[in-house]
Amino acid sequence: MAERTPWSLSGALRGVFAKKTIDADTWDDLEDSLIQADFGPDITDAIVAELRAKVSRYNTTDPKDLHRMLREGIEERLAKLDPTLNLSARPAVVLVVGVNGVGKTTTIGKFAKFLRVHDRSVLIGAADTFRAAAVEQLATWAERAGADIVKPQAQGQDPASVAFQTVERAVSTGTEIVIIDTAGRLQTKGGLMDELTKIRRVIEKQTPISEVLLVLDATTGQNGLAQAEAFIEHAGVTGLVLTKLDGSAKGGFVLAVQEKTGIPIKLVGQGEGINDLTGFTPHVFAQKLVG
Ligand code: GDP
Repeated sequence: MAERTPWSLSGALRGVFAKKTIDADTWDDLEDSLIQADFGPDITDAIVAELRAKVSRYNTTDPKDLHRMLREGIEERLAKLDPTLNLSARPAVVLVVGVNGVGKTTTIGKFAKFLRVHDRSVLIGAADTFRAAAVEQLATWAERAGADIVKPQAQGQDPASVAFQTVERAVSTGTEIVIIDTAGRLQTKGGLMDELTKIRRVIEKQTPISEVLLVLDATTGQNGLAQAEAFIEHAGVTGLVLTKLDGSAKGGFVLAVQEKTGIPIKLVGQGEGINDLTGFTPHVFAQKLVG
C-alpha cells in the first residue's frame, strides 16, 4: 500500500488516546472523529456503543485499551466479507462497471498489470464503444500493462458484440483472464443498464462471468454511493474497487460502503500510476486507519 494515508484517523485520535484516562470527552471526541471520517451516523453510533460496552465489561479506564478495541472492532467488521477475487475459471471473465470519471479506465490498466506481474495472460475488451477517446486511452493502458485488447471496429459498435468477440478470442487463444470495460453514462441510466444486461447475456452464452467489479471514487464518499445504486440493483455486482483513496480524507467510507452494500471491497487504488492497485486486506487497512 502507498505510504500516504490522508484517510487515517490516527492524527485526529492522537489526543484521545494520549490522555491518562477515558472520560466523557473521550466518547465525544471519538464520535466526532468517526463522523468526520464518513463512517456515517449509524455505524458511528454502533461502534461507540460497542466500545462503551466493552470498556465497561473489561473494567478499564486506559485509552490504550480503547485504541486497541477500536482497531480490532473495525477489522472484525471489515473482515465479515471475503475480499478474495474469484479468478479460477478459464477464461475468468471480469466485467468492470461504474460511472464515468471514477477511475474505471485507470483501474483496468492497473489490474491488467497486476495480473501480468503474476504471469497471467490478459485480454481487455473495449466495450465502452461510444467514446473513441476512451477506447484509445484503454489501448494505451493495455500496451503499458502488456495486455492484448479487442477494440470496436467502428465507433458506437454494439458493446455486447465487442464483449462477445473478446471472450471468443480469449477462448480460442487460451487467454486466462478477460477484463471488459463498459460505459458509464449516467444520463441514460435505463439504456445503460439494458446495455449491461445484454453484455452479460452474450458473455454468459459462452462462459460464466467470474466477477462484476463496481468502481467507486473514494473521494466522493457516501454521497457518491447514490450514483452507484443502479449498478448494484441491475448489474450483478460481485465486488467493489475503491479508487483515489490516496486523495481521500474519508477512511470511514471503506467500512460504510461494505456495510451499506453488503458487497466486499476486492481492490483498492491509491494513485495514478500503473502499480498503484492492491488487494484489500482488512487487517492492514484497520491498522493504517486507526494507527
Ligand atoms: P473513467 O472515466 O472512470 O475511466 O476514469 P479514468 O480512469 O479516466 O480516471 C479519471 C481520473 O482519475 C484520471 O485523472 C486518473 O488519473 C484519476 N485516477 C484514477 N484512479 C486514481 C487513484 O487511485 N488515485 C488518484 N489520485 N487518481 C486516480
